[in-house]
Amino acid sequence: VTKRTPLIAGNWKMNLDHLQAVALVQKLHWALKDAKHEDGSVEVAVFPPFTDLRSVQTLLDADKIAFTLGAQDLSTHDEGAYTGEISGAFLKKLAVSQVIIGHSERREYHAETDEVVAAKVQAALRHELVPVICVGETSEDLEKHGASAVPVAQLEKAIAGVPADAEIVVAYEPVWAIGSGQAATPQQAQEVCAKLREVLADRLGADTAARTRVLYGGSVKAANIASFMREPDVDGALVGGASIKVDEFASIIRFEK
Ligand code: PEP
Repeated sequence: VTKRTPLIAGNWKMNLDHLQAVALVQKLHWALKDAKHEDGSVEVAVFPPFTDLRSVQTLLDADKIAFTLGAQDLSTHDEGAYTGEISGAFLKKLAVSQVIIGHSERREYHAETDEVVAAKVQAALRHELVPVICVGETSEDLEKHGASAVPVAQLEKAIAGVPADAEIVVAYEPVWAIGSGQAATPQQAQEVCAKLREVLADRLGADTAARTRVLYGGSVKAANIASFMREPDVDGALVGGASIKVDEFASIIRFEK
């Protein structure tokens, strides 16, 4: 059985300016002294707004803090006349290593289609960034098609053209569970994460499916993280609201199965 390092990823969304960002990372680092991520048994990733990346990267580097740095989005283009866009090349230069793609808030408020999501996945891979591909059904989808049909179709489209040896992360985030306080049950999360792993096996091969991390996201907090982590196909969590609360996020990272 391939062992997958659990990934606890904090999506800060549009919260915290660069000064607040530095303060949060410092406090989190102190709260985690002697925690598991120090020995590499858990990977911790933070995804601040673009304007915070430089400050956070400088702090991680100076204090040798073992958090992975991520961005919340990137352009499909590498450079040029695309006002307001941020390219994968720029992120890579800032020591960013992961990038969230297709978050439901981007799909909803910025009309990101599956085609745009797929193009962003390709853009990330061009710059050796690990795409954290978000998929998930709305409550309407859930009623009409059940839990897994929409996330499965979204993942199939997002990874079309991805080579089997690429490193990617998949995040199953039911839209109805994001920011609602109403998390999926561990059994629901396991069922869909297992289906998503089947898609990976089918499209990218058994080895890739066995080593790729599939996360659950949606109202994860200290009180429910362990129940998700006990599920065999849930390899970590993408955490929104709770990731900017120091003690709460530290407790999530310290989960005990
Ligand atoms: C998210 O936005 O990715 C998320 C999971 O949010 P929350 O944890 O606040 O539900």
